Amino acid sequence: MENLDIAKFGGTSVGNFEAMSSSYKVVIGNKKSRVVVVSACAGVTNLLVELASGKCNNERVEEIIAKLRSIHEDIISHLDNQDELREFVEGHIKEIREQTAQAAKQTSDQLTDSLVSHGELMSSYLFVALFKHFGTDATWFDVREVMRTDSKFSRAKPLTDDIRVLTRDKLMPLISDSTVIITQGFIGSNIIGETTTLGRGGSDYSAALLGDALGVATISIWTDVPGVFTTDPRIVKNARPIPELTYIEAAEMANFGAKVLHPSTMLPAVEKKIPIFVGSSREPEKGGTWVRYETESQPNFRALALRKNQTLIILSSPVMVGATGFLANVFAVFAKYNHSIDLVSTSEISIAVTIDGGTSTSGSAQISENMLNELRQFCHVKVETGLPLIAIIGNKMSENAGVITKAFDSIKSFSVRMICYGASKHNLCFLLKDGDTSDALVALHEQLLED
Ligand code: ADP
Ligand code: ASP
Ligand code: MG
Repeated sequence: MENLDIAKFGGTSVGNFEAMSSSYKVVIGNKKSRVVVVSACAGVTNLLVELASGKCNNERVEEIIAKLRSIHEDIISHLDNQDELREFVEGHIKEIREQTAQAAKQTSDQLTDSLVSHGELMSSYLFVALFKHFGTDATWFDVREVMRTDSKFSRAKPLTDDIRVLTRDKLMPLISDSTVIITQGFIGSNIIGETTTLGRGGSDYSAALLGDALGVATISIWTDVPGVFTTDPRIVKNARPIPELTYIEAAEMANFGAKVLHPSTMLPAVEKKIPIFVGSSREPEKGGTWVRYETESQPNFRALALRKNQTLIILSSPVMVGATGFLANVFAVFAKYNHSIDLVSTSEISIAVTIDGGTSTSGSAQISENMLNELRQFCHVKVETGLPLIAIIGNKMSENAGVITKAFDSIKSFSVRMICYGASKHNLCFLLKDGDTSDALVALHEQLLED
């Protein structure tokens, strides 16, 4: 399969008939694209997550169902065999209704995963119909046959060895020059066939996992922007596309909030050094970004990423002076409550840590009051929420003279709550006070990334 490309199309790239048609052209324009992974149509996963929350009253449920119908009907109305397609969508809507009723009684991550999976199942089916409508044979494939995960619903961990074996046995034999296989991102199944998801934005990760299992030459992530930009182009108008990035830089950007790639996408690609391309399905002619093992340039400042809504927890204890084991005790409590610590900064008598809400399908994890109470038993606890974190991504940041001065200079007009620098050569993080984050991003971009 060394000559194959696996192509993934995000929600906006399959959001309506016009977008799907552009994506179709991208696929048929590349003879190496034999396997295609799709997200749910734009907006659909959010609507399904809302239904799964169990908090919608009847009126809202009906509003959401009507919206789901209209998103899919818009596509169906341009295709052949409309009755069959409508029947297929109505079958899913019936299940969505049943599962919504269950969620109103009792929510669970497992139920949420089953409910949201309808989004990808419907979009992929309609994309197959669109291929056939345009005269190209396409085969619908249920990715749950090969995307084996553990049972951690809402943010399941893929079992890569199993995925490789299942892909070899069930997906590879279907690949041929005469058909395009269309399958779902984001969803998977555990060993007993229950539906799981890889967490929000997980379709990029699905494509990389399948790409690795198929041994493809390239992974293409087709989205609504022509590549990975120096920062989110929706916030900073002077952001510009980056022609190439290393896996490390791309992973840092994704980890610190650049939504264009799911943070785990690079993991399966690194081992076999599979290049990842990111481009716009509407404007493929604009080119995009290649994410590779090595790049020609390694600038100190490559990009900026933003994560909103960080929680800062400051733990202090006078008995920490000269004491051992305080940090170990603190970390043990966080581990017990399954909260992953992000940034850390310490002084003689206190430690400050940040926690990110994360990307689980069922939504941000709330900080457990029990955990805070347990911490209060041996230290003073202060919690601040809703703080923005800006990460400067680059290379040799803690090695080259002048880098830190330039970065500090560029943030001087904003109130900084916490700084993390030195643990990685590839990032420098500023946790800011809640306020106008966009202004800070614009100012940093202007001073660090514009000539
Ligand atoms: P898809 O649905 O195709 O997966 P996403 O919405 O998940 O698309 O990701 C694309 C979006 O990511 C862009 O529209 C853009 O607003 C946002 N984004 C954030 N940071 C960046 C960045 N550095 N470069 C490009 N896009 C970014
Ligand atoms: N549809 C899922 C989401 O909105 C997965 C994805 O788009 O990557 O999170
Ligand atoms: Mg995405």
